[in-house]
Amino acid sequence: LLLKHRARKRFGQNFLQDDGIIDAIVKAINPQKGETFIEIGPGLGALTFPMLECIDIMQAVEIDRDLIEFLAKKSMALGRLNLIEADALTLDFNSLGNDLRIIGNLPYNISTPLLLHLFKFSNNINDMHFMLQKEVVLRLCASPGTKAFGRLSVISQYFCDVDYLFTVSPDAFHPKPKVDSAIVRLRPREDKEAISNFNLFELIVAKAFSMRRKTLANNMKGMMDAKELIECNIDPSLRAECLEVIDFVAIANYLNDKMR
Ligand code: SAM
Repeated sequence: LLLKHRARKRFGQNFLQDDGIIDAIVKAINPQKGETFIEIGPGLGALTFPMLECIDIMQAVEIDRDLIEFLAKKSMALGRLNLIEADALTLDFNSLGNDLRIIGNLPYNISTPLLLHLFKFSNNINDMHFMLQKEVVLRLCASPGTKAFGRLSVISQYFCDVDYLFTVSPDAFHPKPKVDSAIVRLRPREDKEAISNFNLFELIVAKAFSMRRKTLANNMKGMMDAKELIECNIDPSLRAECLEVIDFVAIANYLNDKMR
């Protein structure tokens, strides 16, 4: 079956073929009957069918029409796979139910925009388990003060508690990706600090990290000066990577107040 479908690079297709890894992923997800599961990019069903042994219904979003056709045939007798032919990047996940548990071995070429899209629905998501490029997972869960801590870390950790679960070698896939992969668990936070203007928050995070070796005062020039950073209780001589997520929230809310 794997040979019949030629993996499409533009859709980031690397199919899981290692039963041990698939089993470990399903165990980490710990699916229970009655929960609302969404899979992004089911592909040939490597995760989908083992998941369907534990739960009644899987809703799966796939962009590749050939794979939709394949999965439709393969699951017909089962009748418990709801296929959605759509681009996950523009899909309204709120239309798929409540308290969503989202899973997927994601197409690596769109992982960052896809995560940013999913965060818009975080209030309606219970948790997410994804396979991603290892380097991306390291950035998602990086702590302040480390080299991997950057824009993606701040935005992700604002929305979610992030856990690195385990590493997956290229051998687990067909075709083999060039890089190591890892499984990450993201659990939307219920105690998020309020952000008065989210676009401004994103802009500030981008600006603060724009030149990683420069100080915050330097990178924030034109938007706020050292004195104002001190007013937010932030040392302007620090680099952005030394700040905590709440510091970025404080800056964004301070500037938003000032603009009003
Ligand atoms: N889940 C399968 C597995 O583990 O073997 C396939 C994983 S493969 C890395 C990524 C899957 O996402 C492919 O099936 C691909 O066609 C699909 N995909 C790529 N871009 C997509 C998009 N924008 N929306 C939905 N699915 C997408």
